Amino acid sequence: MDLSWSDEDRRFRDEVRAFLDAELMPELRHVGKTLTSVYAERDVSLAWQAILLRKGWVAPAWPKEYGGCAWSVTERYIFASELAKAHAPPLSPMGLGMCGPVLIGHGTAEQKAHFLPRMLKGEDFWCQGYSEPGSGSDLASLQMSAVEDGDDFICTGHKLWTTHAAVANWIFCLVRTSKEAIPQRGITFLLIDMRTPGVEVQPIISLSGEHIQNHVFFTDVRVPKANVVGRVGEGWSVAKYLMQFERGGGVQAPGLTVRLRKIAAMIEAETAARPDLADEAAALRRQTADAAIQIEALEATELKLLSRLSAGDAPGAESSLQKTVGTELSQRLTEIALAAAGLFAQVYQPHTVSPGGPVPGYRPPNDAAGIGPDYSWTVAAKYLNDRAGSIYAGSNEIQRNIMAKAILGL
Ligand SMILES: Cc1cc2nc3c(=O)[nH]c(=O)nc-3n(C[C@H](O)[C@H](O)[C@H](O)COP(=O)(O)OP(=O)(O)OC[C@H]3O[C@@H](n4cnc5c(N)ncnc54)[C@H](O)[C@@H]3O)c2cc1C
Repeated sequence: MDLSWSDEDRRFRDEVRAFLDAELMPELRHVGKTLTSVYAERDVSLAWQAILLRKGWVAPAWPKEYGGCAWSVTERYIFASELAKAHAPPLSPMGLGMCGPVLIGHGTAEQKAHFLPRMLKGEDFWCQGYSEPGSGSDLASLQMSAVEDGDDFICTGHKLWTTHAAVANWIFCLVRTSKEAIPQRGITFLLIDMRTPGVEVQPIISLSGEHIQNHVFFTDVRVPKANVVGRVGEGWSVAKYLMQFERGGGVQAPGLTVRLRKIAAMIEAETAARPDLADEAAALRRQTADAAIQIEALEATELKLLSRLSAGDAPGAESSLQKTVGTELSQRLTEIALAAAGLFAQVYQPHTVSPGGPVPGYRPPNDAAGIGPDYSWTVAAKYLNDRAGSIYAGSNEIQRNIMAKAILGL
């Protein structure tokens, strides 16, 4: 296993840095710095996507023939690390990171020709329709029905927690096309135009006040059979293929390191202002040191995974390890930040930060300046928003079950 960067890797890193210095505008960096969610608002992520598109850097993992960069896993890691360090706002993962790879792997020539260029240009904005009431961890029990009618399916059901459904124009869904003894067998992967009659979106407001997730109701929605990806009844294999992209292969340690440094600076600033809090500051410094060690261990795991992927191996259960440790460390950082910000963390002021979606019902004060030091503004909303990290993309309990079986052989 070789974990060192080559001269070529360093040249690539310098090229990425030069591009970010020149093209990542201060407004976009500001969003990246003050983001309270793992998602940026649609318009922000599309603005950054348009800049990356001009450079040809929108889809690092896609093959060149579909407009991707076909970068090696090492180049992708370097690129993602530099984006995190430069505070680039995240692109929406549902199209480019999930549906795109699925279409490349399982789509028809027509589906690829139609959807992939539109995805790259941001002409279509995607959301993911897997979860339903009662079918989250036990996803194979999903009930949304798709009944054949000539060249179409008629779809009826209820998808839940659907991120960005209110601003998306397409959704990729798992639907039930037949009832089999083994529930995984009757599932189909279907692309649905959100503007089709019978599709209704209702908001779910998160603990942090943001409107990012949604209910999506489907009532007799007519969907062409041409929108099936893979074969009818074999959507479970397509979904499993996608889950690897959702859980693994991402890069978390560099972004966590950036956040940890910010928290460490916050602790020092607070202590300088309040020498009487020296004991509390010492306790917080110990917690940041502990988190720093864990982030380094995560980075070592990510680099090990990278090394294995470079050698052509599949991510396997290590993607569960990365998801679990990464989200739990992220939550830990929000807890330390909350303690470090002290009383300022109690001030609810979304107008000073960049939420992942609108904050309904919130009226900014007439004096729009934030209360307290600027480093404390994101703290409370980020803490609340980040509680979801151990639930989405497969809860961490489920990831532990996977690791127990695959790694420990239990
Ligand atoms: C912020 C957010 C964004 C999301 N975005 C999307 C999206 O865009 N598209 C989409 O389709 N879904 C999305 N989800 C849904 C997400 O995938 C589910 O919430 C998740 O899979 C858990 O399912 P559930 O909510 O039904 O909880 P349940 O499955 O009911 O689980 C409840 C609790 O029981 C535990 N549990 C369940 N089964 C087991 C078991 N076998 N062993 C041990 N513990 C178990 C779980 O870990 C959890 O703590 C999102 C969720 C959140 C919170």
